[in-house]
Amino acid sequence: MEEKILEVKDLSVSFDGGVQAVSGVSFDLRRGECFALVGESGCGKSTTARAILRLIRAPGRITGGRILFEDEELLGLSEGEMGKVRGRNIGMIFQNPLDSLNPVYTVGSQVSEGLMVDKMEKAQAWKLAADTFRDVKIPDAEERVRSFPHEISGGMRQRVMIGMMLCRHPKLLIADEPTTALDVTIQAGIIELMNDLRHKYDTAVLMITHDFGIVADMADRVGVMYAGQIVELGDVFTIFDHPLHPYTKLLMKALPVITKKEGRLETIPGTVPDLSKPIQGCRFADRCPDACDRCHQVSPAMTQVTPGHLCACHLVKGGEAHV
Ligand code: SF4
Repeated sequence: MEEKILEVKDLSVSFDGGVQAVSGVSFDLRRGECFALVGESGCGKSTTARAILRLIRAPGRITGGRILFEDEELLGLSEGEMGKVRGRNIGMIFQNPLDSLNPVYTVGSQVSEGLMVDKMEKAQAWKLAADTFRDVKIPDAEERVRSFPHEISGGMRQRVMIGMMLCRHPKLLIADEPTTALDVTIQAGIIELMNDLRHKYDTAVLMITHDFGIVADMADRVGVMYAGQIVELGDVFTIFDHPLHPYTKLLMKALPVITKKEGRLETIPGTVPDLSKPIQGCRFADRCPDACDRCHQVSPAMTQVTPGHLCACHLVKGGEAHV
């Protein structure tokens, strides 16, 4: 089994007013692996991803847990030391590339800037930027490096961002809903590109998404998040074929089926609980069709059902308990 490159242990993040956005999240990521965090909007996926790079801005703060990258505690690094980890060792792609690219610089100069931070000569960095554009399948690479962000399409901008991150050969790439703002056909091309490049460079990927299609295309393992906690975790085949947590099962039922000709799409009734108030018992209890009295009083612990498959539900009988 590949070595662990990232270990997130019992991570908690809260915002002003006591909103507990992430509560006791634990998972790990191995070299070259793709781990997907899935769940509804507001369940804490993106906050978890940003916490890894220590990009939580006030009034938010990391209130507990550990984040180990190659056995080094990231929460113990100074801001200067953390700056060397960002981009070089851990890259991040955000949902809207236009927010990440500077409108007054050409895309080529923005890619080469990162390489020059790594002490590369300007001419060499510019050449590598053009090579990178070819790597991410941008046509007319020599021309496109001279384009400004507004002169290229959304799909091309996201390819620029992927190239910008991967040309520095990070060991881990965090992709936060990287295709949400793109058309479906462009999405497919971006996912294919990310898959090709992660295998080529043996880069581990933490994929943040609400789209199970992307999970099926890319992920090796999956963590299902609900209301700031991971409620089920396992390899992608187990989660798709034998989901155990009622929330995961309902998410699967809500997926559109192309062969189903009539009827309405399934939805999950109710809303995510208010995370600014203390929650007693299971966080999913108010929406769960299987909830019983105990569910409203006692929070279920994460337990291992089979090796590598963990679930937090009173109805699922597991073996050893995990944090
Ligand atoms: Fe549903 Fe109870 Fe399981 Fe929570 S612990 S998911 S409420 S059955």
